[in-house]
Amino acid sequence: MTEANNNTSSPFQSFLQQLYSKYKSLPDGKVASYIPELAKVDPDLFSICAMTTDGRGFEVGDFNQLFTIQSISKVFVYGLALEDRGRDYVLTRVGVEPTGDAFNSIILDERSQRPYNPMVNAGAIATTSLIKGAGPTERLNRLLEMFRRYIGRHDIFIDISVFMSERTTGHRNRAMAHLMHHFGMIDEKFDEALDLYFQQCSLMVTCRDLAVMAATLANNGVNPITKEQAVDCVYVKDILSVMYTCGMYNFAGEWAYKIGLPAKSGVSGGIIVVVPNQIGIGVFSPLLDERGNSVRGVKVCEELSRQFGLHMFDAAMGSCKFLEMLNCGNG
Ligand code: GLU
Repeated sequence: MTEANNNTSSPFQSFLQQLYSKYKSLPDGKVASYIPELAKVDPDLFSICAMTTDGRGFEVGDFNQLFTIQSISKVFVYGLALEDRGRDYVLTRVGVEPTGDAFNSIILDERSQRPYNPMVNAGAIATTSLIKGAGPTERLNRLLEMFRRYIGRHDIFIDISVFMSERTTGHRNRAMAHLMHHFGMIDEKFDEALDLYFQQCSLMVTCRDLAVMAATLANNGVNPITKEQAVDCVYVKDILSVMYTCGMYNFAGEWAYKIGLPAKSGVSGGIIVVVPNQIGIGVFSPLLDERGNSVRGVKVCEELSRQFGLHMFDAAMGSCKFLEMLNCGNG
């Protein structure tokens, strides 16, 4: 375990350290095993990171540990699809309706034949199929370039073992792609779209990366460290809206009610949370609840939201700005 490396004297850093200590030994949950490679992860890994929109970082635990991004990738690929095709066209292929069903639900909207939203697997595969490029290599490179803008590092890579593990066992995702092709929602190159989807899920990130990516969304699409525009700011509201309503699997409604912030989780144990115009949060712990969300991750986010009045509709949010609190040293 590595200790926090900056802003060590801040009260907010101390609070993260307290949360880390409080939940470090919580044994609840199970690691995902339906993708065989994911079952090999160390279940004790745990980290909490945050980054403000003006580039201050807070981190505790195993924040440099690499893991595959999994479903969190869906958020960012949705942004690229919106840039590539425009909102109106993307809406003809993928809806924005929460399902209340599991992430791997095979159900499509009966009236439109569209997948319900870009955060469930079916919708994410349809979204990935919209990424422009002359062939599979160019499309992959465009995805990697997009992730690089959010992460702010050049040395990003895909874990080939996880990619192959998903590619060879992902029969359910493959079945969904066939079904969506049948309904005209994705074109005949659906095998290429599936490969690209498995590749995006197998991108290696750290918890610190997650916080920077979330902070980039909080900062209207501009990476707070590199100052690079990662996504056109006109689409940030679309991305945050689907995160808010659909980001936490079939826990999304309860999450919106209790925590009240746009978020996305993934089956490797990551969660990103965006506090617009203020801060991005990343949590990583591979022990998942029955809906596929990190048990410790949800607990940490609940406490952060409550402690700092971060719920979007919390009356306190109007008067109590998180960044101002940090600046006053009361965070
Ligand atoms: N690659 C995983 C799948 O398609 C992503 C699932 C997730 O993280 O929710 O099943």
